[in-house]
Amino acid sequence: MSGPLRLSGTPASGGYAEGPIFCLDGGAASYVPKGSAAAEAQTLKAAIEAASEQLAVLAAASTGEAADMLEFQSAMLADDSLSRLAFDAINAGRTADKAWADALAGEIAGYEAADDEYFRARAADLKDIRQQVLDALTSTRDRTAPPGAILFGEDIAPTRFLATDWSAGGGIALSKGSPASHVAMLARSRGVPMVVGLGSAAKDVAGLALLDAEHGGIVLRPTERDIEGFRKSSAAYGERRRRAEDGVMRSAATENGISVRVLVNVADPWDVDRIDIASCDGVGLMRTEFLFGKDLPDEETQYRAYRKVLEWADGKPVTIRTIDAGGDKPVPGFTVEEGNPFLGLRGIRLSLSRPEIFRLQIRALLRAAVHGNLKVMFPMISVPEEYTRAVALFAEEAKNLAVAGEPHAMPPLGIMVEVPSVAIAPELFSNAAFFSIGSNDLTQYVMAAARDNTAVAALNSVTNPAVLRLIAAVAEFGRQHDVPVSLCGDAGGDPAAIPHLLRAGLRDLSVAPAQLALAKAAIAGVTA
Ligand code: PEP
Ligand code: MG
Repeated sequence: MSGPLRLSGTPASGGYAEGPIFCLDGGAASYVPKGSAAAEAQTLKAAIEAASEQLAVLAAASTGEAADMLEFQSAMLADDSLSRLAFDAINAGRTADKAWADALAGEIAGYEAADDEYFRARAADLKDIRQQVLDALTSTRDRTAPPGAILFGEDIAPTRFLATDWSAGGGIALSKGSPASHVAMLARSRGVPMVVGLGSAAKDVAGLALLDAEHGGIVLRPTERDIEGFRKSSAAYGERRRRAEDGVMRSAATENGISVRVLVNVADPWDVDRIDIASCDGVGLMRTEFLFGKDLPDEETQYRAYRKVLEWADGKPVTIRTIDAGGDKPVPGFTVEEGNPFLGLRGIRLSLSRPEIFRLQIRALLRAAVHGNLKVMFPMISVPEEYTRAVALFAEEAKNLAVAGEPHAMPPLGIMVEVPSVAIAPELFSNAAFFSIGSNDLTQYVMAAARDNTAVAALNSVTNPAVLRLIAAVAEFGRQHDVPVSLCGDAGGDPAAIPHLLRAGLRDLSVAPAQLALAKAAIAGVTA
């Protein structure tokens, strides 16, 4: 083998890992045919049961997002229509492994061809299920990675992630993959370094590798100099993280003493159980799509979820966003099939088109408002009429609750600034109680670069002068007209973007809980 091979990709979960490569693809043992259709069917049934048991074990040890994903996979595995295809193929003479692989292949291809990241992520779940049953059929389940290994392959199944012991370090390097995948979310919440989109230049790799998930790269067959430089960067990163964690309970302020409020973004109401309320200034964005994941939730379910977060916040502000379904977040029974969902019936547009569903959420929010310091905001506002209509629905439901004698309160109602029409003409929305800049969508719409497409990731930059100029203009408008302005997109927690955002005039940032410490540290390094 020749010299070092350096591949670059996209960071999906920050950090550094040095360790032996463990190839995820290939290496499976071959299946031994059982000789009769009855024996093949029996073998497949046992393998499906074994895979279900494995999922149940993992589910018992998981919470939040991971538990949901495992529940989804269990439901898929229990779905007879999936296994029936395989049993039919066995009756027609196929062996259990081929019958199962073929039955899943058609389903997976359908999901993979979807334009939408959400559906492509479901294809990863199906691949995961396929592999678990194949592993059970060929007894390759025990092919475990050595401690501290860097798992390298095209993609990684979420259950493989959950079944891996990360206590000795290690990381993930994928030739494909996406920062928006389930595994990427799990990796960020567990602090496992992960890089995606490394391309297919490396095959059959082995030996020591250096994974830099801060900048997005991996070095295979590193030289002594590579190792030395890598260890310096890794140690500096570790030190920065440690120092940041030490300061997480302090209020954030710039180097020249300007205070900045740092709030957290939450989705699952159980997320808050892992966060100390004293470490943040409240919740800047509670995404409610999570509640609408599988079925449409009733008013009571929503009320309990909102109340839980408000009570946890103990008087600090909690901004809950009304459902932002559509785009990359389809909701069965609510969203519609569209050619270009990012530009379609999404967010407030969809909610206003289905008032019977929207009213349930509004009632739940009005009732929850008595339990804390609630603010509510609407996603994807493009024209003032959308805000006016949403406010009118809040007023109507408040009246209905009053007539019914139900305790409730009217929260301040604000808007997200994520469509360029709002950022360019904020004066049309000056009656909104507050603005919250959604930099993820604002950037994708200003730059015409989809937020979930690695091929245009370089264009999707919040620090492009056009995006920053809009953010600065919105912040300035807010200052002049007493409309509070915050930012709740991912840029708020990105140490590289933070100096630009503060210089653009922002003083309220809402960040993913895992980014809280580094965000506060980055703020402390800025002179604004
Ligand atoms: C945003 O667009 O920046 C945002 C916070 O909303 P979401 O990422 O949920 O679309
Ligand atoms: Mg958005």
